[in-house]
Amino acid sequence: MFTATGSDWEQRAAALHLRTGLLIDGEWVQGSAEPLTPISPRDGRALPAISAASDADVDRAVRSARAAFDSGCWSQRAPRERGQALIAFAQKIHDNAEELALLISLEMGKPIREALQTEMRAVVNCFRWYGEAVDKVLDELPVTSPNSLALVTREPAGVVAAVVPWNFPLTMTAWKLAPALAVGNSVVLKPAENSSFSALRLAELALEAGIPAGVLNVTPGRGHEAGRALGEHNDVDVITFTGSPEVGRKFLTYSGLSNGKRVWPELGGKTASLVLPDADLERAVRATADGCFYNQGQMCTASSRLLVPRADRDRALEIAAEVARTTLPADPFEVTTSMGAIVSENQLRSIAGFVERADAEGAEIAAGGAERFDAVAGGSYFAPVVVGVTPENEVARREVFGPVLSVIAYDDLDDALAIANGTEYGLAAALWSNDLNAVHRVSRRIKAGVVWVNCFEEGDMTMPFGGVKGSGYGRDKSLHALEKFTDLKSTWIELS
Ligand code: NAP
Ligand code: MG
Repeated sequence: MFTATGSDWEQRAAALHLRTGLLIDGEWVQGSAEPLTPISPRDGRALPAISAASDADVDRAVRSARAAFDSGCWSQRAPRERGQALIAFAQKIHDNAEELALLISLEMGKPIREALQTEMRAVVNCFRWYGEAVDKVLDELPVTSPNSLALVTREPAGVVAAVVPWNFPLTMTAWKLAPALAVGNSVVLKPAENSSFSALRLAELALEAGIPAGVLNVTPGRGHEAGRALGEHNDVDVITFTGSPEVGRKFLTYSGLSNGKRVWPELGGKTASLVLPDADLERAVRATADGCFYNQGQMCTASSRLLVPRADRDRALEIAAEVARTTLPADPFEVTTSMGAIVSENQLRSIAGFVERADAEGAEIAAGGAERFDAVAGGSYFAPVVVGVTPENEVARREVFGPVLSVIAYDDLDDALAIANGTEYGLAAALWSNDLNAVHRVSRRIKAGVVWVNCFEEGDMTMPFGGVKGSGYGRDKSLHALEKFTDLKSTWIELS
Protein backbone atom coordinates (compact mmCIF):
# COMPACT_ATOMS: atom_id res chain seq x y z
CA MET A 1 0.00 0.00 0.00
CA PHE A 2 2.79 2.46 0.92
CA THR A 3 6.51 2.73 0.28
CA ALA A 4 8.80 5.02 2.26
CA THR A 5 11.20 6.75 -0.11
CA GLY A 6 13.37 9.85 -0.12
CA SER A 7 15.99 11.27 2.19
CA ASP A 8 14.23 14.43 3.29
CA TRP A 9 12.18 13.13 6.23
CA GLU A 10 14.00 15.39 8.67
CA GLN A 11 13.10 18.48 6.62
CA ARG A 12 9.56 17.21 6.28
CA ALA A 13 9.36 16.76 10.05
CA ALA A 14 10.55 20.32 10.59
CA ALA A 15 7.74 21.56 8.32
CA LEU A 16 4.98 19.61 10.12
CA HIS A 17 2.09 21.52 11.63
CA LEU A 18 1.67 19.92 15.05
CA ARG A 19 -1.76 20.00 16.70
CA THR A 20 -1.43 20.79 20.40
CA GLY A 21 -4.96 21.30 21.69
CA LEU A 22 -7.77 19.12 23.00
CA LEU A 23 -10.34 18.23 20.35
CA ILE A 24 -13.78 18.53 21.92
CA ASP A 25 -17.05 18.86 20.05
CA GLY A 26 -15.17 19.48 16.82
CA GLU A 27 -13.25 22.43 18.24
CA TRP A 28 -9.66 22.87 19.36
CA VAL A 29 -9.68 23.95 23.00
CA GLN A 30 -7.09 24.44 25.72
CA GLY A 31 -6.94 22.06 28.65
CA SER A 32 -6.53 23.33 32.20
CA ALA A 33 -3.96 20.78 33.42
CA GLU A 34 -0.20 21.46 33.26
CA PRO A 35 0.74 21.09 29.54
CA LEU A 36 2.67 18.03 28.37
CA THR A 37 6.26 18.65 27.30
CA PRO A 38 7.04 15.92 24.75
CA ILE A 39 10.57 15.08 23.65
CA SER A 40 11.48 13.35 20.41
CA PRO A 41 13.46 10.21 21.28
CA ARG A 42 15.11 10.43 17.87
CA ASP A 43 17.42 13.25 18.97
CA GLY A 44 16.24 14.35 22.41
CA ARG A 45 14.82 17.58 21.05
CA ALA A 46 11.85 19.24 22.77
CA LEU A 47 8.65 19.23 20.75
CA PRO A 48 5.89 21.83 21.18
CA ALA A 49 3.94 21.60 24.45
CA ILE A 50 0.59 19.83 24.25
CA SER A 51 -2.46 21.03 26.12
CA ALA A 52 -3.47 18.52 28.81
CA ALA A 53 -6.91 17.59 30.10
CA SER A 54 -8.00 17.98 33.72
CA ASP A 55 -11.06 16.38 35.32
CA ALA A 56 -13.16 19.33 34.14
CA ASP A 57 -11.89 19.01 30.56
CA VAL A 58 -12.58 15.29 30.53
CA ASP A 59 -16.07 15.98 31.83
CA ARG A 60 -16.60 18.44 28.99
CA ALA A 61 -15.46 15.85 26.44
CA VAL A 62 -17.73 13.19 27.91
CA ARG A 63 -20.68 15.60 27.86
CA SER A 64 -19.96 16.37 24.21
CA ALA A 65 -19.83 12.67 23.40
CA ARG A 66 -23.08 12.05 25.27
CA ALA A 67 -24.86 14.93 23.54
CA ALA A 68 -23.71 13.66 20.13
CA PHE A 69 -24.88 10.18 21.04
CA ASP A 70 -28.27 11.34 22.26
CA SER A 71 -28.79 13.55 19.21
CA GLY A 72 -28.70 10.46 17.00
CA CYS A 73 -26.48 12.24 14.42
CA TRP A 74 -24.27 9.14 14.39
CA SER A 75 -25.86 6.57 16.69
CA GLN A 76 -29.14 6.54 14.76
CA ARG A 77 -27.68 6.56 11.28
CA ALA A 78 -28.16 3.46 9.16
CA PRO A 79 -25.23 1.11 9.69
CA ARG A 80 -24.43 1.28 6.00
CA GLU A 81 -24.09 5.08 6.17
CA ARG A 82 -21.82 4.86 9.19
CA GLY A 83 -19.84 2.24 7.32
CA GLN A 84 -19.47 4.55 4.33
CA ALA A 85 -18.27 7.34 6.61
CA LEU A 86 -15.64 5.00 8.09
CA ILE A 87 -14.51 4.01 4.61
CA ALA A 88 -14.22 7.72 3.73
CA PHE A 89 -12.20 8.18 6.92
CA ALA A 90 -9.94 5.27 5.90
CA GLN A 91 -9.38 7.00 2.57
CA LYS A 92 -8.49 10.28 4.32
CA ILE A 93 -5.98 8.39 6.47
CA HIS A 94 -4.61 6.73 3.36
CA ASP A 95 -4.17 10.11 1.66
CA ASN A 96 -2.41 11.57 4.71
CA ALA A 97 -0.48 8.44 5.68
CA GLU A 98 2.99 9.92 5.20
CA GLU A 99 2.23 12.79 7.55
CA LEU A 100 0.75 10.46 10.19
CA ALA A 101 3.69 8.07 9.88
CA LEU A 102 6.11 10.95 10.31
CA LEU A 103 4.29 12.12 13.44
CA ILE A 104 4.59 8.62 14.89
CA SER A 105 8.26 8.40 14.00
CA LEU A 106 8.97 11.85 15.45
CA GLU A 107 7.14 11.34 18.73
CA MET A 108 7.96 7.73 19.61
CA GLY A 109 11.01 6.84 17.52
CA LYS A 110 9.66 4.15 15.20
CA PRO A 111 11.52 3.91 11.88
CA ILE A 112 9.64 5.87 9.23
CA ARG A 113 9.55 2.78 7.02
CA GLU A 114 7.77 0.72 9.67
CA ALA A 115 5.47 3.57 10.66
CA LEU A 116 4.36 3.99 7.06
CA GLN A 117 4.53 0.52 5.55
CA THR A 118 3.35 -1.51 8.53
CA GLU A 119 1.49 0.73 10.93
CA MET A 120 -0.35 3.03 8.54
CA ARG A 121 -1.31 0.10 6.38
CA ALA A 122 -2.85 -1.62 9.40
CA VAL A 123 -4.71 1.55 10.38
CA VAL A 124 -6.23 2.09 6.94
CA ASN A 125 -7.20 -1.59 6.69
CA CYS A 126 -8.81 -1.56 10.11
CA PHE A 127 -11.15 1.38 9.47
CA ARG A 128 -11.96 0.06 6.01
CA TRP A 129 -12.67 -3.43 7.33
CA TYR A 130 -15.14 -2.31 10.01
CA GLY A 131 -16.70 0.15 7.57
CA GLU A 132 -17.30 -2.71 5.15
CA ALA A 133 -18.44 -5.14 7.85
CA VAL A 134 -20.95 -3.20 9.86
CA ASP A 135 -23.97 -3.57 7.58
CA LYS A 136 -23.39 -7.31 7.24
CA VAL A 137 -23.90 -8.21 10.87
CA LEU A 138 -27.21 -9.89 11.67
CA ASP A 139 -29.31 -9.84 14.83
CA GLU A 140 -31.13 -12.90 16.21
CA LEU A 141 -34.69 -14.13 16.03
CA PRO A 142 -34.85 -17.04 18.48
CA VAL A 143 -37.45 -19.70 17.84
CA THR A 144 -40.09 -19.41 20.59
CA SER A 145 -43.80 -20.15 20.15
CA PRO A 146 -46.49 -19.39 17.54
CA ASN A 147 -47.90 -16.76 19.89
CA SER A 148 -44.80 -14.69 20.34
CA LEU A 149 -41.97 -13.04 18.50
CA ALA A 150 -38.60 -12.78 20.18
CA LEU A 151 -35.93 -10.34 19.00
CA VAL A 152 -32.36 -10.24 20.24
CA THR A 153 -30.78 -7.06 18.97
CA ARG A 154 -27.57 -5.20 19.66
CA GLU A 155 -27.54 -1.54 20.57
CA PRO A 156 -24.56 0.78 20.90
CA ALA A 157 -23.37 1.10 24.49
CA GLY A 158 -23.24 4.92 24.42
CA VAL A 159 -20.03 6.72 25.40
CA VAL A 160 -16.84 4.71 24.98
CA ALA A 161 -13.52 5.90 26.41
CA ALA A 162 -10.38 4.55 24.74
CA VAL A 163 -7.07 4.76 26.61
CA VAL A 164 -4.14 3.56 24.56
CA PRO A 165 -0.34 3.14 24.66
CA TRP A 166 2.38 4.62 22.47
CA ASN A 167 4.05 1.57 20.96
CA PHE A 168 1.68 1.13 17.99
CA PRO A 169 -0.11 4.37 18.67
CA LEU A 170 -2.47 4.56 15.72
CA THR A 171 -2.92 0.81 15.28
CA MET A 172 -4.11 0.46 18.87
CA THR A 173 -6.29 3.53 18.41
CA ALA A 174 -7.81 2.12 15.22
CA TRP A 175 -8.50 -1.24 16.88
CA LYS A 176 -10.59 0.61 19.49
CA LEU A 177 -12.16 3.40 17.44
CA ALA A 178 -13.21 1.51 14.32
CA PRO A 179 -15.49 -1.08 15.97
CA ALA A 180 -16.76 1.36 18.63
CA LEU A 181 -17.72 3.95 16.01
CA ALA A 182 -19.02 1.39 13.52
CA VAL A 183 -21.84 0.33 15.83
CA GLY A 184 -22.82 3.93 16.65
CA ASN A 185 -21.02 4.89 19.86
CA SER A 186 -19.43 8.23 20.62
CA VAL A 187 -15.81 8.07 21.77
CA VAL A 188 -13.40 9.99 23.98
CA LEU A 189 -9.78 9.05 23.22
CA LYS A 190 -6.92 9.50 25.70
CA PRO A 191 -3.70 8.89 23.78
CA ALA A 192 -0.42 8.11 25.55
CA GLU A 193 1.65 11.16 26.48
CA ASN A 194 4.35 9.94 24.09
CA SER A 195 2.07 9.74 21.08
CA SER A 196 -0.53 12.50 21.21
CA PHE A 197 0.39 14.38 18.02
CA SER A 198 -0.55 11.49 15.75
CA ALA A 199 -3.81 10.89 17.64
CA LEU A 200 -4.84 14.54 17.37
CA ARG A 201 -4.19 14.62 13.63
CA LEU A 202 -6.09 11.37 13.15
CA ALA A 203 -9.14 12.78 14.92
CA GLU A 204 -8.97 15.94 12.82
CA LEU A 205 -9.08 13.75 9.70
CA ALA A 206 -12.21 12.05 11.10
CA LEU A 207 -13.92 15.45 11.19
CA GLU A 208 -12.76 16.19 7.65
CA ALA A 209 -14.16 12.84 6.56
CA GLY A 210 -17.61 13.79 7.82
CA ILE A 211 -17.79 12.08 11.19
CA PRO A 212 -19.93 14.55 13.16
CA ALA A 213 -18.46 16.84 15.83
CA GLY A 214 -18.64 15.32 19.31
CA VAL A 215 -18.64 11.74 18.04
CA LEU A 216 -14.85 11.54 18.44
CA ASN A 217 -13.17 13.72 21.08
CA VAL A 218 -9.52 13.60 22.08
CA THR A 219 -8.26 14.54 25.55
CA PRO A 220 -4.48 14.28 25.71
CA GLY A 221 -3.10 14.35 29.20
CA ARG A 222 -1.47 12.41 31.96
CA GLY A 223 -2.59 8.91 32.79
CA HIS A 224 -3.22 9.67 36.43
CA GLU A 225 -5.25 12.77 35.50
CA ALA A 226 -7.02 12.45 32.14
CA GLY A 227 -6.93 8.63 32.10
CA ARG A 228 -8.18 8.32 35.66
CA ALA A 229 -10.89 10.94 35.07
CA LEU A 230 -12.29 8.86 32.20
CA GLY A 231 -12.09 5.70 34.30
CA GLU A 232 -14.00 7.34 37.15
CA HIS A 233 -16.54 9.23 35.04
CA ASN A 234 -20.11 8.23 35.82
CA ASP A 235 -21.33 8.87 32.28
CA VAL A 236 -18.75 6.70 30.47
CA ASP A 237 -20.32 3.35 29.58
CA VAL A 238 -17.29 1.40 28.36
CA ILE A 239 -13.53 1.64 28.81
CA THR A 240 -11.39 0.00 26.18
CA PHE A 241 -7.79 -0.05 27.32
CA THR A 242 -4.46 -1.30 26.04
CA GLY A 243 -1.43 -0.94 28.27
CA SER A 244 0.26 -2.37 31.31
CA PRO A 245 -1.35 -4.83 33.74
CA GLU A 246 -0.84 -2.35 36.55
CA VAL A 247 -2.86 0.40 34.89
CA GLY A 248 -5.39 -2.05 33.44
CA ARG A 249 -6.26 -3.17 36.94
CA LYS A 250 -6.58 0.45 38.04
CA PHE A 251 -9.37 0.81 35.50
CA LEU A 252 -11.20 -2.11 37.09
CA THR A 253 -10.95 -0.24 40.40
CA TYR A 254 -12.09 3.07 38.87
CA SER A 255 -15.07 1.24 37.46
CA GLY A 256 -15.91 -0.44 40.75
CA LEU A 257 -15.74 2.85 42.60
CA SER A 258 -17.87 4.74 40.05
CA ASN A 259 -20.69 3.50 37.83
CA GLY A 260 -19.54 -0.08 37.25
CA LYS A 261 -18.77 0.64 33.61
CA ARG A 262 -17.54 -2.23 31.45
CA VAL A 263 -13.74 -2.40 31.21
CA TRP A 264 -11.96 -4.24 28.40
CA PRO A 265 -8.29 -4.59 29.36
CA GLU A 266 -5.65 -5.75 26.93
CA LEU A 267 -2.45 -5.92 28.85
CA GLY A 268 1.15 -7.00 28.50
CA GLY A 269 2.75 -10.29 27.51
CA LYS A 270 5.79 -12.52 27.79
CA THR A 271 5.55 -14.51 24.59
CA ALA A 272 7.22 -17.90 24.59
CA SER A 273 8.59 -19.16 21.30
CA LEU A 274 8.70 -22.91 21.75
CA VAL A 275 11.00 -24.79 19.39
CA LEU A 276 10.26 -28.53 19.29
CA PRO A 277 13.18 -30.90 18.63
CA ASP A 278 12.15 -31.64 15.02
CA ALA A 279 11.95 -27.95 13.99
CA ASP A 280 14.36 -26.07 11.74
CA LEU A 281 16.35 -24.48 14.56
CA GLU A 282 18.00 -21.75 12.54
CA ARG A 283 14.75 -20.54 11.02
CA ALA A 284 12.92 -20.64 14.34
CA VAL A 285 15.64 -18.79 16.23
CA ARG A 286 16.03 -16.10 13.58
CA ALA A 287 12.27 -15.46 13.45
CA THR A 288 12.09 -15.37 17.25
CA ALA A 289 14.95 -12.90 17.55
CA ASP A 290 13.42 -10.70 14.84
CA GLY A 291 10.08 -10.92 16.67
CA CYS A 292 11.75 -9.89 19.91
CA PHE A 293 13.65 -6.93 18.47
CA TYR A 294 10.90 -5.61 16.21
CA ASN A 295 9.66 -2.12 17.19
CA GLN A 296 12.75 -1.90 19.45
CA GLY A 297 11.22 -4.73 21.48
CA GLN A 298 8.39 -2.47 22.59
CA MET A 299 5.65 -4.90 21.76
CA CYS A 300 3.14 -6.68 23.96
CA THR A 301 3.65 -9.76 21.79
CA ALA A 302 7.48 -9.52 21.54
CA SER A 303 8.83 -13.08 21.41
CA SER A 304 11.03 -12.41 24.42
CA ARG A 305 11.46 -16.03 25.54
CA LEU A 306 13.05 -18.60 23.25
CA LEU A 307 12.56 -22.13 24.56
CA VAL A 308 14.83 -24.75 22.96
CA PRO A 309 15.79 -28.36 23.72
CA ARG A 310 18.78 -28.40 26.08
CA ALA A 311 21.00 -29.96 23.38
CA ASP A 312 20.33 -26.98 21.08
CA ARG A 313 20.79 -24.25 23.67
CA ASP A 314 24.32 -23.13 22.81
CA ARG A 315 23.67 -23.15 19.06
CA ALA A 316 20.44 -21.16 19.59
CA LEU A 317 22.31 -18.57 21.65
CA GLU A 318 24.88 -18.22 18.87
CA ILE A 319 22.29 -17.74 16.13
CA ALA A 320 20.26 -15.26 18.19
CA ALA A 321 23.41 -13.32 19.10
CA GLU A 322 24.28 -13.04 15.42
CA VAL A 323 20.83 -11.62 14.67
CA ALA A 324 21.27 -9.16 17.55
CA ARG A 325 24.65 -7.98 16.30
CA THR A 326 23.25 -7.31 12.83
CA THR A 327 20.08 -5.52 14.02
CA LEU A 328 21.48 -2.26 15.28
CA PRO A 329 19.54 0.95 15.89
CA ALA A 330 19.85 3.75 13.38
CA ASP A 331 18.19 7.06 12.50
CA PRO A 332 14.39 6.51 12.35
CA PHE A 333 14.19 9.07 9.53
CA GLU A 334 16.38 6.97 7.19
CA VAL A 335 14.20 4.75 5.02
CA THR A 336 16.64 1.84 5.34
CA THR A 337 16.40 1.77 9.16
CA SER A 338 14.64 -1.21 10.71
CA MET A 339 15.38 -0.48 14.38
CA GLY A 340 14.73 3.01 15.69
CA ALA A 341 14.77 4.76 19.06
CA ILE A 342 13.44 3.65 22.44
CA VAL A 343 10.39 5.75 23.27
CA SER A 344 11.93 7.70 26.16
CA GLU A 345 14.91 7.97 28.46
CA ASN A 346 12.82 6.45 31.25
CA GLN A 347 12.03 3.42 29.15
CA LEU A 348 15.69 3.10 28.14
CA ARG A 349 16.80 3.15 31.78
CA SER A 350 14.18 0.56 32.64
CA ILE A 351 15.42 -1.78 29.89
CA ALA A 352 19.07 -1.29 30.88
CA GLY A 353 18.12 -2.09 34.50
CA PHE A 354 16.76 -5.50 33.43
CA VAL A 355 20.06 -6.27 31.70
CA GLU A 356 22.14 -5.15 34.70
CA ARG A 357 20.11 -7.30 37.06
CA ALA A 358 20.26 -10.29 34.71
CA ASP A 359 24.02 -9.90 34.65
CA ALA A 360 24.12 -9.73 38.45
CA GLU A 361 21.98 -12.88 38.63
CA GLY A 362 24.62 -14.70 36.55
CA ALA A 363 22.91 -14.75 33.15
CA GLU A 364 25.12 -15.48 30.14
CA ILE A 365 25.10 -12.34 28.01
CA ALA A 366 25.66 -13.50 24.44
CA ALA A 367 25.11 -10.15 22.68
CA GLY A 368 24.71 -6.53 23.69
CA GLY A 369 24.85 -5.07 27.17
CA ALA A 370 23.33 -2.50 29.49
CA GLU A 371 24.96 0.49 27.76
CA ARG A 372 23.07 2.89 25.50
CA PHE A 373 23.81 2.93 21.78
CA ASP A 374 24.82 6.02 19.87
CA ALA A 375 22.80 6.25 16.65
CA VAL A 376 21.71 9.91 16.50
CA ALA A 377 23.23 12.40 18.94
CA GLY A 378 20.93 13.17 21.86
CA GLY A 379 18.55 10.31 21.05
CA SER A 380 17.53 7.22 23.07
CA TYR A 381 18.96 4.10 21.46
CA PHE A 382 19.61 0.63 22.77
CA ALA A 383 21.15 -2.29 20.91
CA PRO A 384 19.53 -5.75 21.12
CA VAL A 385 20.57 -8.08 23.93
CA VAL A 386 20.55 -11.89 24.03
CA VAL A 387 20.86 -13.64 27.38
CA GLY A 388 21.09 -17.30 28.31
CA VAL A 389 18.97 -17.68 31.46
CA THR A 390 16.94 -20.08 33.58
CA PRO A 391 13.15 -19.66 33.88
CA GLU A 392 13.62 -18.22 37.37
CA ASN A 393 15.66 -15.19 36.25
CA GLU A 394 13.76 -11.92 36.47
CA VAL A 395 14.34 -11.12 32.79
CA ALA A 396 12.71 -14.44 31.83
CA ARG A 397 9.58 -13.72 33.86
CA ARG A 398 8.83 -10.02 33.62
CA GLU A 399 7.89 -7.98 30.59
CA VAL A 400 10.95 -5.88 29.60
CA PHE A 401 9.30 -3.96 26.74
CA GLY A 402 12.67 -3.60 25.07
CA PRO A 403 14.91 -5.67 22.74
CA VAL A 404 16.06 -8.28 25.23
CA LEU A 405 15.75 -11.97 24.30
CA SER A 406 15.94 -14.68 26.98
CA VAL A 407 17.12 -18.07 25.72
CA ILE A 408 15.96 -20.91 27.97
CA ALA A 409 16.72 -24.64 27.73
CA TYR A 410 14.04 -27.26 28.42
CA ASP A 411 14.35 -31.00 29.12
CA ASP A 412 11.13 -32.49 27.74
CA LEU A 413 7.73 -31.38 26.49
CA ASP A 414 6.14 -31.17 29.94
CA ASP A 415 9.04 -29.07 31.12
CA ALA A 416 8.75 -26.83 28.06
CA LEU A 417 5.01 -26.28 28.60
CA ALA A 418 5.51 -25.60 32.31
CA ILE A 419 8.02 -22.89 31.40
CA ALA A 420 5.91 -21.51 28.54
CA ASN A 421 2.83 -21.28 30.78
CA GLY A 422 4.78 -20.28 33.86
CA THR A 423 4.42 -16.50 33.78
CA GLU A 424 1.57 -14.26 34.90
CA TYR A 425 0.87 -13.47 31.24
CA GLY A 426 -1.03 -15.28 28.48
CA LEU A 427 -1.10 -13.05 25.43
CA ALA A 428 0.67 -14.91 22.63
CA ALA A 429 2.98 -17.84 21.92
CA ALA A 430 4.82 -19.29 18.95
CA LEU A 431 5.37 -22.95 18.22
CA TRP A 432 7.91 -24.40 15.81
CA SER A 433 7.47 -27.96 14.52
CA ASN A 434 6.62 -29.90 11.39
CA ASP A 435 4.98 -32.72 13.32
CA LEU A 436 1.25 -32.27 12.74
CA ASN A 437 0.22 -34.16 15.85
CA ALA A 438 2.63 -32.29 18.06
CA VAL A 439 1.45 -28.95 16.65
CA HIS A 440 -2.18 -29.66 17.51
CA ARG A 441 -1.50 -31.23 20.88
CA VAL A 442 0.96 -28.64 22.08
CA SER A 443 -0.93 -25.58 20.82
CA ARG A 444 -3.98 -26.71 22.81
CA ARG A 445 -1.90 -26.87 25.99
CA ILE A 446 -0.48 -23.36 25.60
CA LYS A 447 -2.31 -20.82 27.73
CA ALA A 448 -2.44 -17.83 25.39
CA GLY A 449 -5.00 -15.90 23.38
CA VAL A 450 -2.94 -16.18 20.19
CA VAL A 451 -0.73 -19.06 18.99
CA TRP A 452 1.46 -18.76 15.90
CA VAL A 453 2.70 -21.99 14.35
CA ASN A 454 5.85 -21.84 12.22
CA CYS A 455 5.48 -18.07 11.86
CA PHE A 456 5.43 -14.99 13.99
CA GLU A 457 3.06 -11.99 14.23
CA GLU A 458 0.85 -13.18 11.40
CA GLY A 459 -2.77 -12.17 11.60
CA ASP A 460 -5.74 -10.71 9.85
CA MET A 461 -8.61 -8.38 10.67
CA THR A 462 -10.87 -11.45 10.74
CA MET A 463 -9.03 -12.90 13.77
CA PRO A 464 -9.53 -11.72 17.36
CA PHE A 465 -6.45 -10.47 19.18
CA GLY A 466 -6.05 -10.54 22.96
CA GLY A 467 -4.95 -12.63 25.88
CA VAL A 468 -5.81 -14.65 28.96
CA LYS A 469 -4.60 -14.55 32.59
CA GLY A 470 -2.67 -11.40 33.46
CA SER A 471 -2.77 -10.27 29.83
CA GLY A 472 -6.41 -9.29 30.27
CA TYR A 473 -9.50 -10.49 28.44
CA GLY A 474 -10.38 -7.76 25.93
CA ARG A 475 -10.32 -8.80 22.28
CA ASP A 476 -9.49 -6.40 19.48
CA LYS A 477 -10.15 -6.99 15.77
CA SER A 478 -12.68 -9.31 14.11
CA LEU A 479 -16.46 -9.17 14.43
CA HIS A 480 -16.09 -10.18 18.09
CA ALA A 481 -14.83 -6.69 18.91
CA LEU A 482 -18.28 -5.33 18.05
CA GLU A 483 -19.66 -7.22 21.06
CA LYS A 484 -17.55 -5.14 23.44
CA PHE A 485 -19.24 -1.93 22.38
CA THR A 486 -22.87 -3.07 22.19
CA ASP A 487 -25.56 -4.18 24.63
CA LEU A 488 -27.88 -7.07 23.93
CA LYS A 489 -31.54 -6.20 24.02
CA SER A 490 -34.22 -8.88 24.27
CA THR A 491 -37.62 -7.78 23.02
CA TRP A 492 -40.56 -10.09 23.55
CA ILE A 493 -43.68 -9.45 21.51
CA GLU A 494 -46.88 -11.23 22.47
CA LEU A 495 -48.93 -12.00 19.37
CA SER A 496 -52.53 -12.24 20.42
P1 NAP B 1 0.65 2.14 30.43
O1 NAP B 1 1.61 2.83 31.28
O2 NAP B 1 -0.28 1.18 31.06
O3 NAP B 1 -0.18 3.30 29.68
C1 NAP B 1 -1.23 3.03 28.81
C2 NAP B 1 -2.18 4.20 28.84
O4 NAP B 1 -2.73 4.34 30.16
C3 NAP B 1 -1.51 5.53 28.52
O5 NAP B 1 -2.42 6.34 27.79
C4 NAP B 1 -1.25 6.09 29.90
O6 NAP B 1 -1.10 7.49 29.93
C5 NAP B 1 -2.49 5.65 30.65
N1 NAP B 1 -2.29 5.63 32.09
C6 NAP B 1 -1.12 5.56 32.79
N2 NAP B 1 -1.36 5.59 34.11
C7 NAP B 1 -2.70 5.69 34.27
C8 NAP B 1 -3.55 5.77 35.42
N3 NAP B 1 -3.08 5.76 36.66
N4 NAP B 1 -4.88 5.86 35.20
C9 NAP B 1 -5.39 5.89 33.95
N5 NAP B 1 -4.64 5.83 32.85
C10 NAP B 1 -3.30 5.73 33.00
O7 NAP B 1 1.33 1.38 29.25
P2 NAP B 1 2.48 1.93 28.29
O8 NAP B 1 3.69 2.14 29.12
O9 NAP B 1 2.00 3.07 27.49
O10 NAP B 1 2.62 0.70 27.28
C11 NAP B 1 3.29 -0.45 27.62
C12 NAP B 1 2.35 -1.55 28.09
O11 NAP B 1 1.26 -1.75 27.20
C13 NAP B 1 3.05 -2.87 28.15
O12 NAP B 1 2.74 -3.58 29.33
C14 NAP B 1 2.50 -3.60 26.94
O13 NAP B 1 2.62 -4.96 26.96
C15 NAP B 1 1.12 -3.12 26.87
N6 NAP B 1 0.56 -3.31 25.53
C16 NAP B 1 -0.40 -4.28 25.34
C17 NAP B 1 -0.94 -4.50 24.08
C18 NAP B 1 -2.03 -5.53 23.86
O14 NAP B 1 -2.68 -5.49 22.84
N7 NAP B 1 -2.27 -6.46 24.74
C19 NAP B 1 -0.50 -3.73 23.02
C20 NAP B 1 0.48 -2.77 23.22
C21 NAP B 1 0.98 -2.56 24.50
P3 NAP B 1 0.39 8.15 29.99
O15 NAP B 1 0.87 8.18 28.63
O16 NAP B 1 0.15 9.49 30.55
O17 NAP B 1 1.21 7.29 30.90
MG1 MG C 1 3.50 3.72 31.22
